[in-house]
Amino acid sequence: MSAPQHRIDTSPKVSDEIRQTTCYMCACRCGINVHMKDGKVAYIEGNRDHPVNKGVLCAKGSAGIMQHNAPSRLRKPLLRTGPRGSGEFREISWEEAMNTAVGWLTEIHETAPHKLAFFTGRDQSQSFTSFWAQHFGTPNYAAHGGFCSVNMAAAGIYTMGGAFWEFGQPDWDRTKLFMLFGVAEDHDSNPIKMGLGKLKERGARVIGVNPIRTGYNAVADDWVGITPGTDGLFILALVHELMRAGKIDLHYLAQYTNAPVLVDGETGLLLRDEDGKQLVIDRITKKPTPFDQKGVRPDLSATYRHAGVTHRTVMAHMADRYLSPDYSPDAVADRCGVPADRIRAIAADLARVAFDEAFELDLEWTDFRGESHKTMTGRPVSFHAMRGISAHSNGFQTCRALHVLQILLGSVEVPGGFRFKPPYPKPVEAHPTPHGQGRPGRPLAGPHLGFPRGPEDLQLDEKGKPTRIDKAFSWENPMSVHGLMHMVISNAHAQDPYPIDTLFMYMANMAWNSTMNTSGVIEMLTDRNDDGGYRIPRIIYSDAYSSEMVAYADLILPDTTYLERHDCISLLDRPICEADAAADAIRWPVVEPDRDVRGFQSVLIELGARIGLPGFLNEDGSPKWKDYADYIVTHERRPGIGPLAGWRGEDGDQAGRGSVNPDQLDRYIENGGFFVEHIPDNAQYMKPWNMDYQDWAVKIGLFDAPQPFLFQLYVEPMRKFQRAAEGHGDQQPPDHLRDRLKQVMDPLPIWYEPFEQTLVDTDQFAIHALTQRPMAMYHSWGTQNAWLRQLHGKNPLYLPTKLWQQHGFKEGDWARVTSAHGEITVPVAHQAALNENTIWTWNAIGKRKGTWALSEDAPEAREGFLLNHLIHELLPAKGDGLRWANSDPITGQAAWFDLRVRIEKVAAPAEAQPAFDPIKSPVPTGPTTLKWKVGA
Ligand code: SF4
Repeated sequence: MSAPQHRIDTSPKVSDEIRQTTCYMCACRCGINVHMKDGKVAYIEGNRDHPVNKGVLCAKGSAGIMQHNAPSRLRKPLLRTGPRGSGEFREISWEEAMNTAVGWLTEIHETAPHKLAFFTGRDQSQSFTSFWAQHFGTPNYAAHGGFCSVNMAAAGIYTMGGAFWEFGQPDWDRTKLFMLFGVAEDHDSNPIKMGLGKLKERGARVIGVNPIRTGYNAVADDWVGITPGTDGLFILALVHELMRAGKIDLHYLAQYTNAPVLVDGETGLLLRDEDGKQLVIDRITKKPTPFDQKGVRPDLSATYRHAGVTHRTVMAHMADRYLSPDYSPDAVADRCGVPADRIRAIAADLARVAFDEAFELDLEWTDFRGESHKTMTGRPVSFHAMRGISAHSNGFQTCRALHVLQILLGSVEVPGGFRFKPPYPKPVEAHPTPHGQGRPGRPLAGPHLGFPRGPEDLQLDEKGKPTRIDKAFSWENPMSVHGLMHMVISNAHAQDPYPIDTLFMYMANMAWNSTMNTSGVIEMLTDRNDDGGYRIPRIIYSDAYSSEMVAYADLILPDTTYLERHDCISLLDRPICEADAAADAIRWPVVEPDRDVRGFQSVLIELGARIGLPGFLNEDGSPKWKDYADYIVTHERRPGIGPLAGWRGEDGDQAGRGSVNPDQLDRYIENGGFFVEHIPDNAQYMKPWNMDYQDWAVKIGLFDAPQPFLFQLYVEPMRKFQRAAEGHGDQQPPDHLRDRLKQVMDPLPIWYEPFEQTLVDTDQFAIHALTQRPMAMYHSWGTQNAWLRQLHGKNPLYLPTKLWQQHGFKEGDWARVTSAHGEITVPVAHQAALNENTIWTWNAIGKRKGTWALSEDAPEAREGFLLNHLIHELLPAKGDGLRWANSDPITGQAAWFDLRVRIEKVAAPAEAQPAFDPIKSPVPTGPTTLKWKVGA
């Protein structure tokens, strides 16, 4: 007889109630179930019904409970009392804080709105913050895209109406060969992990191209440890091989891209009819014909001679360029650090899978020319890329090259390939152009950020000077569609192009990890004029946490945590759509703040009304919105179109379009915090050309009219800038920029050497240095998190075997790393799976003493470090009397990854160098031992 067993409760009740909202521990926006016990957050799990994560939760997501309760949370508004950078503040009431901000901002609004520079970091409410700035009338607004991945986004939109991540995703269920380029672990986090899981389950092949083999690259079947900054060359060598072998999708190119469009032999512009439609030669009539005519059969190899000029197709120009031996694998192998045979083998694999393993899906559809098709052709090759290839001075053209490669294979928007997520794809023509001519007391005529079609859209004054403080949309970076946040402080300090009065920032740690040249930026923030006043007179900053930037502001508006606020993850902004559905979501206060803090967007609503911004007042002068929740529900961007697409209309029974529903947020909460509208089956692929998709998109309010378009292998707006540099047109660049513009604004992708290595002695600075964000941290947010700190409490500098052995390093050693700009001394570690000339470290682990409620001897403050000290926002001087920006010359994207360094072994100092004086913390230090129990 067995002994009696104790009864064990294997499923104890973990909560009294579950509240469903959206995670904000990184930018992926997964759905979460927040378990509440005794009114407190007890536990967080993934929401299985949510379209983004389907129940999957990462380490960051589950550690949200520690973020929400972090000791580093700010508690009350603060007004600076000591000098900037001292961290000395006094706590003030919200009334005093708002009166101060309203006083400063009203004066500027009424006299010189351009003296406000309003820039936001990783905020997920850009459609609202840009609306606020537009109504303020300042030209100086952008979010953090300029130092993150604008090259990827801009290159994608100009080429095919969207890029990766929020714009689209691989067809995870059908792809057989997946290549990812330059992707760190956190972009795009759970969806990529889930996708890779699906691929592994089906035995699909994954090729990772990245100098560093960690994370996704560690589970790839093949790893290509490419030399940083040469991805474009590698991709164009693949293009060379595919074109040489004839392994490109000629039908797809002829029907759906501008490959058959005629390029004017004189101007290099595209030939158009009187309605502005691009012209092709019809293989049947042999005549120039608008591309969208019913029955047209565009001829890829046609020539058209007219008035003594021969016009050739885009395809012919591409053949001239990419069949050149300059792009052969043998010609590029050494520079890329990838053997020629390996490049040829990868090209052959791409061709084999795309063409030999092609398949048909029985999905009937009608294209924009009115022709019906019984099936859709699948090409099971897909790509994903992120910041690794875009944060270079040649990043825009590299990203363009990758999009062109996908298109040549015919693998975009087809089964098995890369699929867009609504509201993408959207052609450039569906996006606004930039706006920036403000007048005192008046709003701008349109949004700040847009897509220039040519020199006429630059933001310049009558003397040709930039009108924006970051010099976005100037000849220095004409297509800077996300602005240049990394240049704001240095330009404001230099008073170039003009002095500003107030720098207003949200969630952007510009005095530490979100800036190049960290020490220099700290000096700029604290520098004074001869009269003793600060060079940047006023700084207002909003953050939820005691970050490094707090000490450098004059007025702090403390924000809530993500569990205490309303947010909308909107189709007007950066939604959470899937390739087969439109979706959006909310955050709502699952817990009320226990501190005197307010959601930043609600603060902006009140500021807008009190300053008297036109869009923020009713006709009788009363505030238009009570708070952000009220705005989310009642604001209409166009009639019937608001921030949230779900449960619109008086009865809440309309999707996408519909009048305001006062109960909309309740409906979202009842549904788990999100809304999904599925795309009909026959509209799920070929979206740019599929009239069923176009009609569905109009029905739910993504567009007001169908907008089918051709993918733009040849980007005509670039040719317009290039022509201006050649001397054509009224708008002319300054002479010192002409040669550069002629080179880089090439309408077909090119590769050029990253700028930094053309200016430094590469024998002396022979090593590439990179950063990556870890999967378990989101920028600096994770470093205060008691659980996540256990994963990354410090960050060594990883060295490849060759350098490790060459310098005789052992575990526990330290190295001095020197760039043309500065030096750091840091602990090292060995990593074999690394490009042999590349060193790297995790980003944003290192912390300044006195911040984030960490103790002064925390590992983050003593052994953690930033590579940022080695990177300058300007390139090394080249002897022409000018300092050129360390940015992509097309979009202005910060070229973080062009960094070149040298290393030497040194004796271990007491702590990582440079070490900064501690800042006085506005919050008490967190406990040494954390004990946590919720409920009885
Ligand atoms: S991937 Fe990002 S959004 Fe999703 S659970 Fe993790 S931290 Fe949260």
